[in-house]
Amino acid sequence: MHLSRFPRVRLTHAPTALHPMPNLTRHLGGPRLWIKRDDCTGLASGGNKTRKLEFLMGEAQAQGCDHVITQGAVQSNHVRQTAAAAAVLGMKCTGLLEHRITTSDRDYLGSGNVLLDQLFGATLEQRPGGTDMQAEMEALAGRLRSRGEKPYVIPGGGSNRVGALGYVTCAIELLAQANDLGLRIDHVVHATGSTGTQAGLVAGLEGLNSGIPVLGISTRQPRDVQEANVYRLTQATADFIGVRGGIDRAAIKANSDYVGGGYGVPTPGMIEAVELTARLEGILLDPVYSGKGMAGLIDLVRRGHFRPDENVVFLHTGGSVGLFGYVGSFAPVADG
Ligand SMILES: *Cc1c(COP(=O)(O)O)cnc(C)c1O
Repeated sequence: MHLSRFPRVRLTHAPTALHPMPNLTRHLGGPRLWIKRDDCTGLASGGNKTRKLEFLMGEAQAQGCDHVITQGAVQSNHVRQTAAAAAVLGMKCTGLLEHRITTSDRDYLGSGNVLLDQLFGATLEQRPGGTDMQAEMEALAGRLRSRGEKPYVIPGGGSNRVGALGYVTCAIELLAQANDLGLRIDHVVHATGSTGTQAGLVAGLEGLNSGIPVLGISTRQPRDVQEANVYRLTQATADFIGVRGGIDRAAIKANSDYVGGGYGVPTPGMIEAVELTARLEGILLDPVYSGKGMAGLIDLVRRGHFRPDENVVFLHTGGSVGLFGYVGSFAPVADG
């Protein structure tokens, strides 16, 4: 777990805060809810991709690359943060946006993350839903190479063993904060998608023998698929950082009861979670990930999944910029 052996550029305002959510705790009647503020990582309005990009962009620079290519949904937080990281490091950035949701909504297609991608100077290309996005990125990289550029391809969500190192740093940071505060963390809960966040966290927390269980609330895949994907990357990350003995399959837990109609499709639970967290704690979640993650946490609390004296940390993975791509879900415009 000696992370200084890996190339890294500093992009994150770390440590991010770890603080209680007293009003939401009172409203739900316990357990004690805490929040780890990885929405406040400092780069381009923040989020969980910043930590991953420290190692991905570090490797890109170590390889002498000058143009990063990545992909995501239209309202991708990952593309936005990658565009900003490329800007600050003086590299070009091309983002391939997959139209996973069929909509003509102007906010979804042009505001929120899309507006910011453009402000950061990224080149955007559109692809229909269901496209093999990794193949599209490789094809683009080939075209750039033939023009003499040096592209670096970052997978969707920055989720490979290099990006996951960012969440190993978060595991180390979280455990140090808990020890300083005298806080016994009984559970960590967060939204999971492309799996790098959970893989890095679990590899780090297991490698440190923390005994802290992590629950990923799925935003796209059914539970068996998500757990298999997380497990694969957790093992690869643990190998990469030299965790002895590998990772126990039982350390990988996902819950896909809160996906609703699909990736990026709003649910009543997400809307309630975004509104409750805003109104009780003054904290902004997002419609695609942290809103569904918090919807899962709230529902599990109501179902008595946690004991009242337990401490549960919600890892806020960011994304509130995406609210501006979903205006109609929260504040329907009156007719007339
Ligand atoms: C990408 C993202 C996630 C999911 O993290 P993964 O590492 O892809 O599983 C969660 N929340 C937000 C806001 C994100 O942008």
